[in-house]
Amino acid sequence: MVDDCYDPLAQAADLFCKEDMDLDTIESSIGKILEAIGEDKDREGLLRTPHRVAKSYAELLAGYRMDPKALINNAVFDVAYDAMVIVRDIEFSSMCEHHMLPFIGRAHVAYIPSDKVIGLSKIPRIVDLFSKRLQVQERMTTQIAEFINVVLQPQGVAVVVEGLHMCMMLRGVKKQDARMTTSAMLGAFRDDYSTRMEFLDNISRGANSLHI
Ligand SMILES: [Zn+2]
Repeated sequence: MVDDCYDPLAQAADLFCKEDMDLDTIESSIGKILEAIGEDKDREGLLRTPHRVAKSYAELLAGYRMDPKALINNAVFDVAYDAMVIVRDIEFSSMCEHHMLPFIGRAHVAYIPSDKVIGLSKIPRIVDLFSKRLQVQERMTTQIAEFINVVLQPQGVAVVVEGLHMCMMLRGVKKQDARMTTSAMLGAFRDDYSTRMEFLDNISRGANSLHI
């Protein structure tokens, strides 16, 4: 659990601080779902399914309880550098909060430092912090941008997320290729057209279309 939930970093991470995930209740609920489907939950293949699902939820929804301080772990450095830093094609997987089905894709993140930079490997961890939850892609995109804004107080932050949503691909309208793109632009990326275009040009260069 996170030690200090009132820390500004923890607040920006929008955590569930009160309790650990109740895996026993998830497990017994999945058993009930199997019965409701009409399955024999005691047949061999399903015997440990409730336990496996509970364990996989603990992993897929771990973002609510990731300690943002441990995640940043002294990787913010004072550096006199004020050009754009871009990390593109960060793979993520998340769960849509409307259907509890996965959506997967990639995130592209950029910032322009004021005087602080963050270790590059930390940016994918920040994407995990917000993707490993029940999410809508729009909110996830904004949360990533705002969190980086709090951590680095940069001149600007930009986040573009491209996602493929199983709930659209497998059910309902069954659009196999419907790719959703969301963006959040803060500071210089919002205010300055050429800055924004530099980022968007960079992430579209040599980009492959998203597929499974
Ligand atoms: Zn959905």
